[in-house]
Amino acid sequence: MTVNLNGIGMTSQRTRDRLITRLVEMGIKSKDVLDVIKNTPRHIFVDEALASRAYENTALPIGYNQTISQPYIVARMTEALLENGNRPKSVLEIGTGCGYQTAILAQLADKVYSIERIDALLKKARATLATLKLRNVRLKHGDGNRGWKEYAPFDAILVAAAPEGVPEKLLQQLAVNGRLIIPVGRSGEQKLLLIKRTETGFDEQQLDMVSFVPMLEGVG
Ligand code: SAH
Repeated sequence: MTVNLNGIGMTSQRTRDRLITRLVEMGIKSKDVLDVIKNTPRHIFVDEALASRAYENTALPIGYNQTISQPYIVARMTEALLENGNRPKSVLEIGTGCGYQTAILAQLADKVYSIERIDALLKKARATLATLKLRNVRLKHGDGNRGWKEYAPFDAILVAAAPEGVPEKLLQQLAVNGRLIIPVGRSGEQKLLLIKRTETGFDEQQLDMVSFVPMLEGVG
């Protein structure tokens, strides 16, 4: 299969630039995050039939009842993880989905570990990330509630599905001075939380109200 990474028409650079303008208007400030979003072809992460909508600021279906996150949310979460100015050495992502957020993180961190419970989505994500030659990513089929002990602690953890409470294992696997960003709560009342681990405990800050798919138990 040949993939057009540069894009034409509705996937062209001009269309992508419009998305960046929109993200800036919505309050995204990190130049690093904006640059990476600008240069990452979101259209190759969705079905061809949806490619023309890939640079709209909306979530889109990726099959199996799941969605690729809205670009603003990807930008907001990534920016919050990087806010302290340090390039994370290791990031854990829960909910690989189509791999778009993984691709963004892989360009801003030394190493990204990502867990997805639906094997078919993971396989597709693996192929797309290989197309982009992003090799600092390790993917796993599993239940993200458990984290990934083997590679812990992580400088940053990003969760792309909403549990009803913060999973204890993810807190345990966060490094001191590390940051965890996670949507928490039932559908219709989810809050995006930024949790920072300190020497003595955890600081919690509430960001936006959000709408994520639920974080489920076990594998799909
Ligand atoms: N960042 C992804 C978001 C995908 S939606 C993207 O932009 O494509 C959230 C994903 O979380 C779904 O693919 C869903 O299958 C996955 N998920 C839900 N519960 C999970 C769990 N316990 N462990 C791992 N992945 C989970």
